[in-house]
Parts: sequence; structure tokens; C-alpha cells
Amino acid sequence: MPSSETAGALLSVDLAALAANYVHLGQELGGVPCAAVVKADGYGLGTAPVAEALAEAGCTSFFVAHQAEGEALRQCLPEAEILVLHGPMPGMEAAFVEARLVPVLNTVAQLEGWRAAAKAAPSALHLDSGLNRLGLGAAELQACDPGQLNLALVMSHLASAEEPQNPMNERQRQRFLDLKAGLPAARASLANSSGIFLGPDFHFDLARGGVALYGVNPTPGRPNPMRDVVHLQGKILALRQIDRGEGVGYGSTYRAAERRLIATVPVGYADGYFRALGNRAFAAIDGRRVPVVGRVSMDLITLDVSDVPGGVREGTLVDLIGGGVPLAELAQAAGTIEYELLTALGPRYHRRYHRGGKAVR
Ligand SMILES: *Cc1c(COP(=O)(O)O)cnc(C)c1O
Repeated sequence: MPSSETAGALLSVDLAALAANYVHLGQELGGVPCAAVVKADGYGLGTAPVAEALAEAGCTSFFVAHQAEGEALRQCLPEAEILVLHGPMPGMEAAFVEARLVPVLNTVAQLEGWRAAAKAAPSALHLDSGLNRLGLGAAELQACDPGQLNLALVMSHLASAEEPQNPMNERQRQRFLDLKAGLPAARASLANSSGIFLGPDFHFDLARGGVALYGVNPTPGRPNPMRDVVHLQGKILALRQIDRGEGVGYGSTYRAAERRLIATVPVGYADGYFRALGNRAFAAIDGRRVPVVGRVSMDLITLDVSDVPGGVREGTLVDLIGGGVPLAELAQAAGTIEYELLTALGPRYHRRYHRGGKAVR
């Protein structure tokens, strides 16, 4: 990782806020345990620091997507229950058992492979309640015999949990109940972050909290109950006065209507600052919004800082995410969702983990 001196931007992750968000989900669940979803490098924030902070906050079950993510997580958390959403690729069952990874079995082939190779070891069964992506439906359940498995969990996944009025939620809940009725008793899990806020009927025995832990609002359209975890600050590398009529950046897609002061910051689309944000997003300096002008290039963005009271200097830090720049607004400007911005955060930032400002790790 680049040092704080050499990096073009500093990514701060507030582990105290992360832990507080975990506790908050637990309160919403009223005693039902909450697993943490830490796939994709802990939603881009770093698996090890994130998982260790969550374990310290009381989390004992973790979900990742890939076997390799599970094996890496096992190195940091020797005791935790680690579930692997994608299940084993053919022939990988022994490696799962070796690392004490609990596979989520998503297909008849995965179920039969597991039964043949490792049936006594715990597994989870994914039931398809309507997402039509992974999991067994009624026909597949007929075609195999899950009764012989050591089932640690049956689970399904909601398609539209962030829309509480969407009738799909209740349809999927009913479908889940119907599908699991024919199976041996096991813990059941349906809710992701937003699903937790659909109420106790959706809580079952284990929730799977993901994006809300990292500060994203699980109740869009209502106030965000979660605390901000991520703060990305870029450094001004260069300042340049331009005259009326001059263009900025590739294609000169921005032209100054009057004399302007342009700050260049060494963060670009290769760092996960989406190219779609050119001429659309804003950064912030001391709470004052400064627009991104011109195209986002691979390694640089350009900001109009003419109106910052007190002025700016080369080296001044600019909020790119968090601080004065809500992640939700940035995602909207990029035409995407917060999940995609977080998981795109690049490797060229200096990453700093802290608890309420005090550095840790
Ligand atoms: C990613 C994922 C989650 C977590 O979803 P969030 O919306 O981030 O809370 C839960 N369950 C499954 C199956 C997932 O793939």
C-alpha cells in the first residue's frame, strides 16, 4: 500500500462506526443474530480489518462469495463460522472441509457433490424463492435428497428488500416457508441489510447484513440509520488559472465562461472514481461543494475551486467520498448504486483504519 506521503488520496475507514452499525442492526433484529457479509474484500474496505472489528463487536458468522475469500478470512478468524455463498467448484469439497468453510449449496450438482465427498460436514442450502439466480426450487428439491445432509442453515435471498411496499417481499417469504417446510429443521435466513428493516417476519434465525454495515442507507427514501464509515480525501496536485473560453481535460468537454481556478487531483477512473462522474459530480473543501469539471481521466480529475472562501493551495485535501460528499449522491451522479462505488475503491489509496479518529492497526 502507498504511504500517506506518496499516495494521491487517503481512504479512512472508521471501525468504530462499523461496529456501531453492527450493534444497530442487532437492535433492529431484537435478539436474532446477525451475520456479516464481507465478500469482495469487505465491500472494498479490506476484509481483515473489517472482519476483525466485526468479530470484536460480537459477530460470529461471516459470509463471503468465493472459496479463496473464505480461506483468507479463516486466517484472520480461526473460530468464526464462515459461509461461502458460491459453494464449492467441482472437486473442491475437501478444501472446504480442511478450512472449515461451510458451503452454500446452490445447485443439485453441488448438493450431490457435497453429499458424496463431505456429507457429515455442515453445509447450508440455498432455496430459490424468486430471484432465479442461485438455489434450489421445488422441482430440484424433489430431484434430490437434502435429508442426508448436516444442514447448518437454509437460506434464500430477496430481490427487492429496499422497497418495503413491493409485494415481491411477501411472495418470497411465503415461497421460502413453503420450500423449507419439507426439509429437516435447520436455522433459516432470508434478510439482507434492507430485509432486516422489513420487520420480524423477515428475521428468521439469522440475518445477513452487508452494505448497511459500511454506512449505506438500507431504507432508501427514509433517514439513514447507519453511521458513515468511509472517507476518501484527494490531495490537490496542481492549481491552474484559466481564462474565459479555455477548455479542461480530454475533449475539452468543459469550457470556462469566465476566469476560473482549476485544481487537479490525482484520482481517476483507475482508482474507482467513475468516468461517468465527469461534469456531473462534486467534491468538497471545508463543506463547500466544488464541481468536477471536464472528463475524469485514468489518473486525474479536475475541480473548479474558484469559489472556495479563503482559497486553496497545492496539497490541500479535498473530500471525494464522505465528509461533504454523501456516497448516495455520488452513486446517483454516476448512474449506479453505492455498492458499486465501494467495491471499486482502488489499490492506489493510502488506507487508514481508525476508531473515532484514533488510528488502529
Ligand atoms: C451480498 C449478499 C448479502 C448482503 O446484502 P446487502 O444488501 O449488502 O446487505 C446477503 N445475502 C446474499 C445472498 C448476498 O449475496
